[in-house]
Amino acid sequence: MKIAAFTIDGNGTFSQDVPAFAAAISASGADIILAPGTSRARRSLPAAAIRAGAAIDTNAVAVTVDGDKVTVQRWAYRQRILTTFSRAARPWVIVTDPALFADICAGLGVTPEPVPQASAAAQTRTKVNGVVAAGTGGESTIKPDSPLLFVAGAGWTKKQADGATHLDEAAATITGFLAKSGASLGSSKSLVDMPEAAKAFSFMSHMNQVGQTGATPRHAKGLSTCCHGEEPHVVGWRFVNDRRAVNLDANCGWAQGKADVLYVADAFEVMKKVNELLA
Ligand SMILES: Cc1cc2nc3c(=O)[nH]c(=O)nc-3n(C[C@H](O)[C@H](O)[C@H](O)COP(=O)(O)OP(=O)(O)OC[C@H]3O[C@@H](n4cnc5c(N)ncnc54)[C@H](O)[C@@H]3O)c2cc1C
Repeated sequence: MKIAAFTIDGNGTFSQDVPAFAAAISASGADIILAPGTSRARRSLPAAAIRAGAAIDTNAVAVTVDGDKVTVQRWAYRQRILTTFSRAARPWVIVTDPALFADICAGLGVTPEPVPQASAAAQTRTKVNGVVAAGTGGESTIKPDSPLLFVAGAGWTKKQADGATHLDEAAATITGFLAKSGASLGSSKSLVDMPEAAKAFSFMSHMNQVGQTGATPRHAKGLSTCCHGEEPHVVGWRFVNDRRAVNLDANCGWAQGKADVLYVADAFEVMKKVNELLA
């Protein structure tokens, strides 16, 4: 197992640093490449890793080597959960917390070297073949100026009373309401993290997530549907004053003083009716 460590000092632009790092990664022939997560390195290393055909992970706080197995630790959930993981891919660029870089290198017996500057020839220039305006692929569901936040939770993907899931119906109901109401779409973490829902719910991403590890939008009103109202989710509602929720469960989190009005009802039926009334 060959381990290399690189630092990059002074000033440099993205177009200078990417080829410099990419060349250093390839020339090192190392399986593991360590670098400190300074703002300069973090900006260029992901692109350099792609050029060098390397995998990359950032924010490492510990790196251990046991034979061929390399294990990395990094914090998740805003420093609440310490995760431990490893990768089979090589070369693997591991960008460490900058304050821990020296200790991690010392622990692995690696001496960091400065990255040699890239030759002018290596600094390839981008050739523009055409321009596509960003955001033309589809309509954004995040509308900060809307008076209403509509939150969809994981309940939309759960088996319903008939024992089956109704993902396409759920997606059509949600997008139908958004189109008619102009509401901004929020989501719970459970829904945006669910791979089986990603196809039907392609109009939302983790950017829609509201909560402790998501957004804290500031709409005047909020309507939550099929979402349990767990504390890590509801903290994202702290600037939404008028809150209503639709949930089958009369004891869900929204009933514990987190919503002004809880409709104990089937959101599929409620939102279908609302859509009919809006039409
Ligand atoms: C450190 C930490 C940070 C977190 N950060 C966040 C965060 O930022 N945002 C976030 O959202 N979560 C966060 N979570 C996760 C959070 O605790 C919950 O697990 C998550 O919000 C649950 O999502 P949910 O309510 O959509 O799904 P579920 O808990 O699965 O609830 C689904 C709900 O849908 C209801 N339902 C089902 N069918 C229907 C129907 N037909 N009509 C009406 N209701 C129906 C069910 O009764 C149920 O209450 C965090 C967790 C941790 C540990």
